[in-house]
Amino acid sequence: PPTTGAGPHVAVLAFPFGTHAGPLLAVVDRLAALSPSTPQSNASAFKNRPSADASPPANVRAHDVWDGIPEGYELTGRHQEAIELFMSAAPAGFRQGIAAAEAESGRKVSCLVTDAFYWFAAEMAEELRAPWVGFWTAGPNALSAHLYTDRLREALGNVPVAEAEEAQLGSIVLGMSKIRVKDLPEGVVTGNLTSIFSTMLHNMSTHLPKSAAAVFINSFRGLDPTITDDLASRFTTFLNIGPFHLLSPPPPPPNSSSCLPWLDGPNLAPASVAYVSFGSVVTPPPHEIRAVAESLEATRVPFLWSLRDHARAHLPQGFAERSQGQGQGMVVPWAPQVEVLGHGAVGVFVTHCGWNSVLESIAGGVPMICRPFFGDQRLNGRMIEDVWGIGVNLEGGVFSKEGLVGCLDRVLKREEGKRMRENVGVLKEKAEEATKPKGSSSDDFCRLVELVSTTTMP
Ligand code: UDP
Repeated sequence: PPTTGAGPHVAVLAFPFGTHAGPLLAVVDRLAALSPSTPQSNASAFKNRPSADASPPANVRAHDVWDGIPEGYELTGRHQEAIELFMSAAPAGFRQGIAAAEAESGRKVSCLVTDAFYWFAAEMAEELRAPWVGFWTAGPNALSAHLYTDRLREALGNVPVAEAEEAQLGSIVLGMSKIRVKDLPEGVVTGNLTSIFSTMLHNMSTHLPKSAAAVFINSFRGLDPTITDDLASRFTTFLNIGPFHLLSPPPPPPNSSSCLPWLDGPNLAPASVAYVSFGSVVTPPPHEIRAVAESLEATRVPFLWSLRDHARAHLPQGFAERSQGQGQGMVVPWAPQVEVLGHGAVGVFVTHCGWNSVLESIAGGVPMICRPFFGDQRLNGRMIEDVWGIGVNLEGGVFSKEGLVGCLDRVLKREEGKRMRENVGVLKEKAEEATKPKGSSSDDFCRLVELVSTTTMP
């Protein structure tokens, strides 16, 4: 049977949708690099790697779990169907995966690090007699919205829906007075409160404060001091270890991308380019894609647009070729976003407000034009405009040609845009401070290393 070996044996459970697993893997890479690896684990890791790609640290082993889709089952395309199937199978699948990892290594798991969504990890950690450390992949504001779900439902339950949606949260959630009910992630007080996804988040909100030895997040303390302090008071340990890409710079992107050489071009003024991207999940509806293209053509603003190939068909006829031919911009299927946002030529980010994108924009000192779609994105958009003053939301919440023309003008040409750039510059500096040696994120990362290296239950 597996024994408690000499060193830590950390099981990491990732959520395989959206941009959840990537940031967790970035943390794992860094943790693994700091942890001593025995020749034995090196040997087994190298032997079992499916390929030499991406070269993970030698002391990391990957185990697959079942995606929950029964043999022969055809996905109907229903909203969150794949997530629901996966979540139903996940507790059993992860238990099997951990048993396999323990059997293979001959060592018991000493710490369980999971996506915070996996509230059932509280019970697994108890079974393993190991601490549970949760990773919340979005921002502190969204985490707070989920932790305050019961209080929000109680406070807003008796208010008529239409009125409640426009209402600001006031004093219900600390640090979020300007947030409106309709900015909250669906499933907190609006939408289907009993769906598998809402129930998962609700369960998370009760289990994390009670059972997690620590919760860590890709953010930095100076970004949201009030919310951060409040969260710190609710969790056993709350660690802000971001922005990840500043704390632990990723390897440079492959040279194959033509985006960076284009941004280096001699005709581009500093802070003049619009970078457009909607993350890994969202594709705006065809008429909105057309509206974005039309406003870029009308304003002649230089641009770099990351647009999946399947959505390219919705661009106006000849748009991509015309703009590339005239040197106005490029449409690419994927961009090295961190480097793009860190490039001095970029002056605005037209974004869906996914948390990683928001943080990367802040770290690049780039103001944003917000077109949020779901989950925490509306909340992030509201923080960007009303709390941090580092961007604007589109009129009516969707792209129209006139709406985006107006926003580009406000951010790139007007005095208010200059103020947004100054504000985001201040946050950028705080992010850089936090990730320097002895900065708050560096310190919190050291505490995370200590925590996951502990081999006995705290
Ligand atoms: N991203 C990228 N290139 C692209 C589009 C996105 O590298 O062309 C990366 C981006 O840097 C970010 C992630 O994909 O780290 C998107 O994460 P986010 O949380 O913003 O959105 P999600 O994908 O979860 O909707």
